[in-house]
Amino acid sequence: MMLSKRLKLTAALCSLLTLIVGLSLIQAHHYQQQIYRQLNYSMKLQVSIDSLRSQLWLYQEYSDDRGLSELNLRQAELAKDLSEDIQWATQQKLIISNINRLNTNIRSLINTQHDFHSKQVNVASTLTAERLFKAKYSMIIEEMTEEMFRLHQFSIRKASQKQQTLLLMVGMVLFLLAIMVTAWSIMTLIRFKKGLASLRIGMEALAAGDLVSQINSFDTDELSALADDFNEMKQSLAQITIKKEKLKQEVDIQTRKLIEQQDKLIFLAEHDELTGIYNRRAFIKQIDAAIARDLRGEQQAALLFIDLNKFKEINDSLGHSIGDEVIMTIANRLVNNLRTTDIVGRLGGDEFIIWLDMITEPIDIKNKINQLLSSIKQPITIGEHTLQVGASIGISVLPDDGLNSRELISAADTAMYQAKADHRTEFCFYTDDHRVSALATS
Ligand code: GH3
Ligand code: MG
Repeated sequence: MMLSKRLKLTAALCSLLTLIVGLSLIQAHHYQQQIYRQLNYSMKLQVSIDSLRSQLWLYQEYSDDRGLSELNLRQAELAKDLSEDIQWATQQKLIISNINRLNTNIRSLINTQHDFHSKQVNVASTLTAERLFKAKYSMIIEEMTEEMFRLHQFSIRKASQKQQTLLLMVGMVLFLLAIMVTAWSIMTLIRFKKGLASLRIGMEALAAGDLVSQINSFDTDELSALADDFNEMKQSLAQITIKKEKLKQEVDIQTRKLIEQQDKLIFLAEHDELTGIYNRRAFIKQIDAAIARDLRGEQQAALLFIDLNKFKEINDSLGHSIGDEVIMTIANRLVNNLRTTDIVGRLGGDEFIIWLDMITEPIDIKNKINQLLSSIKQPITIGEHTLQVGASIGISVLPDDGLNSRELISAADTAMYQAKADHRTEFCFYTDDHRVSALATS
C-alpha cells in the first residue's frame, strides 16, 4: 500500500478517535445536565410536599379559612410542579402520577373535613374524626415522601446505569480503535524504516563506486518507486561510465597512433627513405653542431664526399631495383665501418657524405678512407647477380678547408670531382691549390 495512503488512513483513524472522545464528552455532559435537572426538580417537589405538610399541620391545629386558602395555594403549587415536563422515564412518570393522585386525595380529604366542620356534631365525635383526619393526612404525606424517595432512588440509579453504559461502550470502542491505530502506526513505521534503510545502503554503495548492485523493490509504495528510479539512474550512470571508459581507451589508442606517426614523420623528414641514414638537410644540421664543438675544442675533423663509379651502368643493365639494393648495401657497409661519433648521410643518387669527427692525425683519415673503399668494393650478391662497385672520394678538412658545412661540403665535392677525373687515384684531398684554382675559375 502507498505510504501516503497509510498515513491518510492513520490520520483518519486518529480523527475518528478524537470524534468519539468529543461525542462521548458531549453525551456525558448531556446526561449530567439531565440528572441535575431531575435532582433539582425532585428537591423542588420535596420542598413543595414539606410545605404542604406544614400547612396541613397548621390547618389541623386551627381549621380557619385563612389556613384553608393557604392549604389550597400549596396544593396548587404542588400540582403545578408535578405537571412540569422533565423528560421522565415511564417509571418516573408513574411515580409522579402517584404523587399527583395523593395530592388529589388530600384535596378530597380537605373537602370532606371542611364539610364535617360545617355540620354541627358533638364534641366527642369531632375529636375522633379529627384524629382520623390527622392520621389519614399523615399516611398520605408519608406515602408522598416514600414516592419521592423512590423517584430519587430511581433517578440516581438510572443516571448511574446510563453513565456506566456510556463509559463501557466508549471505553471499548476507544480501546479497540487505539489498538488499531497503534498497530497500524507501528506497521507503517517498520515499513518506512525498512524502505529508508534499503535506500541508504544503495546510496552508500554508489558513493563507494558500486555501479552494479541494485536496490530490491519490497512493496508498491513511494519508497519502492524511489528505489526503482534510483536503480534506473544507476544503470544509466554505469552505461555512461562504460562509454566514457571506451572513449578514453579510443583517445589513448589514437594518441599513441598520432605519436607513432609523428615519430615516423620526424624520422622521414630527417632520414633518407631508401637507406635509412641521414638525408642532406639532417646531415648538415648534425655536422653544424659537430663543427661548432670541434672549433671550440680546436679539434680536426674530415668531411668525405663519396660518389659511386659507373652506377648508371648497373641501373641500365640490371634495373633500377637492383640499383636500389646496391645503394642500400653500400649505405650499410659505410655505417658498419664508422665510429658512433662519426656521421653518415646520403645526398641523393649515388652520393654519400661522411663526417669523421675529432681526427688527431691526418694519417687516420687515409686509413679510414682505405677501410671504407675496401668495404665498398666487396662483391655484392643480389639474387643471381654478383657485382662490384668502386667509388671516388673527395676530402675536406676542418678547419683548413672551411669553417662551416657549406664550405666544407663544397670543398669535398670539388675534391671528389678531382679524384673522379684522375683515374690513378680513388680519393683526393682538397688542397690549397684547389682553392686557388677554384678562385681563379670563378
Ligand atoms: P660516374 O662514374 O661519373 O659517377 O657516373 P655514374 O654512372 O655513376 O653516374 P652519376 O654518378 O652521374 O649519376 C648517378 C645515377 O644514379 C643517376 C641516376 O640515374 C641514378 N640514381 C639516382 N638516384 C637513384 C636511386 O635512388 N636509385 C637508383 N637505382 N638509381 C638512382
Ligand atoms: Mg656516380
